[in-house]
Amino acid sequence: MGGTVKYLLDETKIPRDWYNIVADLPQPPPPALHPGTLQPLGPDDLAPIFPMELILQEVSAERTIAIPEPVREIYRQWRPSPLIRARRLEAALDTPARIYFKYEGVSAAGSHKLNTAIAQAFYNKQAGIKRLSTETGAGQWGSSLAYAGAMFGLEVRVFMVRASYNQKPYRKAMMETWGATCVASPSNETASGRAVLAEHPDTNGSLGIAISEAVEIAAQNADTNYALGSVLNHVLLHQTIIGQEAILQFELADDYPDIVIGCTGGGSNFAGLVFPFLGAQLRGGRKVRAIACEPAACPTLTRGQFAYDFGDTGHLTPLVKMHTLGSAFIPPGFHAGGLRYHGMAPLVSLVQELGLIESRAFNQTPCFEAGVQFARSEGIVPAPEANHAIRAVIDEALRCKAEGTARTIAFNLSGHGHFDMQAYLDYFAGKLEDRGYDDAALQAALADLPKVAA
Ligand SMILES: *Cc1c(COP(=O)(O)O)cnc(C)c1O
Repeated sequence: MGGTVKYLLDETKIPRDWYNIVADLPQPPPPALHPGTLQPLGPDDLAPIFPMELILQEVSAERTIAIPEPVREIYRQWRPSPLIRARRLEAALDTPARIYFKYEGVSAAGSHKLNTAIAQAFYNKQAGIKRLSTETGAGQWGSSLAYAGAMFGLEVRVFMVRASYNQKPYRKAMMETWGATCVASPSNETASGRAVLAEHPDTNGSLGIAISEAVEIAAQNADTNYALGSVLNHVLLHQTIIGQEAILQFELADDYPDIVIGCTGGGSNFAGLVFPFLGAQLRGGRKVRAIACEPAACPTLTRGQFAYDFGDTGHLTPLVKMHTLGSAFIPPGFHAGGLRYHGMAPLVSLVQELGLIESRAFNQTPCFEAGVQFARSEGIVPAPEANHAIRAVIDEALRCKAEGTARTIAFNLSGHGHFDMQAYLDYFAGKLEDRGYDDAALQAALADLPKVAA
């Protein structure tokens, strides 16, 4: 039991379907609401910014959705991603636990985000769209969509949160290498950007502001659609390729996870690994403990409120019911990792409300400590986001050691950290700050949540 299953699954066996957890939940998800009327959205309301195939996936209750062959064809460039047994980490921790990770850093863009970028570019191309507009925080999503645009001949325009734009020039260079354009957000190109700049000329920007800018461009141009890299149901759906593969790989390894772990920004890599296992459990299969790991500086699942809120700062997007810190949330400037969105995917929020998953918040320093220990035993330098998952994995493995139990732990190593080495330098220099999100600021932001009748 538990052999290394690095490449046992060959590329002809990439799963043919994405998995939709909505089909197996005991209740349907609350509907998204129109930002003007606060009434449930119809498919036509989203048509100015998304292709109909993605809108239908967004509201689908079908258990499986076939992956189009042109998408599978491109997936084969890096999929199946390896499921690797972390034997050296196990030895370093002297734990009886078996630790596996699904490594998504093997994609061209270096993270799981390409799984949905390729799918979204495909459906937009099929619908006759010429340009995609999007936002990016740390830059992984912008570079993934840039590459997906290059695959399907779509122009891509990326609004990059100013703090990251200044800190991570190589992500911008990568987007430009694949033919996309990248502007710092807030920018002067949109009414929502200009409004923020007029009030706060020195702002660091935020994902909420960059989303407003990208949506505005898409809404105003018939040949341009919007693409989002996380949070939405169809994005989580595309990421389930990760868990679908992992289930096959665990069969080959003759093992099965007791605990599945992922980091959560908007929730997509976590859902991608975890939902197929939760689905098996909901259909009567083995129970798994699922743990979502987030930064203490942006504690959406652990301290946010489960309520209807806007997806952006400019209030152009629909309202969705999710764990939120309030759409005016601006992440503290010191925070290095990319997990900084004010909300959480509605489906991840719902499964937490249903008691199907747990969540934990971690400070930065212990996360980097875990990431460095992982790098020194397994070689791969993790993306700072993934270090939150690794912190929880090591904590659980040490608990197994203390209890003398040999559990199987699986986690999603969502990407590599090759473009994030400044954050590692800051960690080694003792410059990372461990500060939770201020409670007074949180309560003030939550008091401003839109009032929606239950
Ligand atoms: C974007 C990103 C995340 C956070 O986004 P999710 O939607 O929560 O997955 C985590 N890890 C990496 C490497 C990312 O690029």
